[in-house]
Amino acid sequence: MKKAGTLFVHGITPVEAGTGAISTPIFQSATFCHPALGQSTGYDYSRCQNPTRRELEMSMALFEHGKYGLAFSSGMGAISTLIKLFQPGDHLIVSEDLYGGTFRLFNEYYAHYGYIFSWVDTSDFAKIEAATRPETKGLFIETPSNPMMKVTDIRHCADFIHRTRGYLIVDNTFLSPYFQNPLDLGADFVVHSGTKYLSGHNDTLAGIIVHSNYEAEEVLRQAQMSEGATLAPFDAWLTLRGLKTLALRMGKHEENGKKIAAYLRAHPSVEKVFYTGFDDHPQHALSSYQARGHSGMISFYLKKAEYVPKLLASVKLILFAESLGGVESLITYPLVQTHSAIPEEMRLSAGVNDRLIRISCGIEEADDLIEDLEAAIPRQST
Ligand SMILES: *Cc1c(COP(=O)(O)O)cnc(C)c1O
Repeated sequence: MKKAGTLFVHGITPVEAGTGAISTPIFQSATFCHPALGQSTGYDYSRCQNPTRRELEMSMALFEHGKYGLAFSSGMGAISTLIKLFQPGDHLIVSEDLYGGTFRLFNEYYAHYGYIFSWVDTSDFAKIEAATRPETKGLFIETPSNPMMKVTDIRHCADFIHRTRGYLIVDNTFLSPYFQNPLDLGADFVVHSGTKYLSGHNDTLAGIIVHSNYEAEEVLRQAQMSEGATLAPFDAWLTLRGLKTLALRMGKHEENGKKIAAYLRAHPSVEKVFYTGFDDHPQHALSSYQARGHSGMISFYLKKAEYVPKLLASVKLILFAESLGGVESLITYPLVQTHSAIPEEMRLSAGVNDRLIRISCGIEEADDLIEDLEAAIPRQST
């Protein structure tokens, strides 16, 4: 088996057989001609399957060590499809500190259809056990969590939920397959917002599921085809193109993350920095066991909420925008952006207050990013 960095460059099909094309062709066709009655080339209609999308799906299955891959028009499309594995009345335990859009989808839509969700700090295993009921059929975790960078033990969760034949789903968006492969640790399904590190250039939306469960594959394929949140050929190509440099980019994101986290920690106007790459991160040992690195995601509390508007107005290189994982560094204010859908009490108990800032370190030079922050974070005159 070749190393991940090599696999990312070549994908599942290094050269297209028909033409020798090295870059996967963009099959911009809605429909495909049948050779004869009852015959198919394997492609009938692009909502069901498309060759460019398939290249991405099979490549992601290779990268995440699964048998099957499915690509969607967004991460939310992928997550929504995974819920089709459950029935109304089923109970799912979900990380409390997770992407706000996932909370909204579960709480404002699926909860009304009779699915039951418990929001739990899954980094604390006792809390998972305490939330478990006879009808618990699934665990949905984000690790590291968003935005508090708490780490959940994937193997422990998998062993636990498998005892009652439930499923463990891991949202691996923050680390990408370069740093973490949840299926190897026992997870049943790995899901990504391909919009983030996978495509990596803030230029497309995409969602990915990878798994190895034959029965579930039938359910997921059917749901994907029926609901139609499938990834367009050009967006599949952009994601494939992004993946070629995943290893290079992740290395630089992490290098910048380490430098910027250290800079922020030493800043007198910063109260606390949340970064899994710190040796004294509360779950450092677990994170070193289950992941190979830390990406470029950092959150921190400023000492005063009044610093926030000044910081967001003053950054120049680091762009004030939602999202993460692209080559451009982005700064986010979770309270009003990614986490605005989460009720106040729950948001505060998860740690998302009015002084919390999240940075996705891009691949610019760290010194320039630090210079940008230095000019933007107020220093209290004493
Ligand atoms: C962005 C994100 C999503 C949603 O993905 P979209 O591509 O925006 O639909 C899900 N999970 C995490 C962790 C994310 O960061």
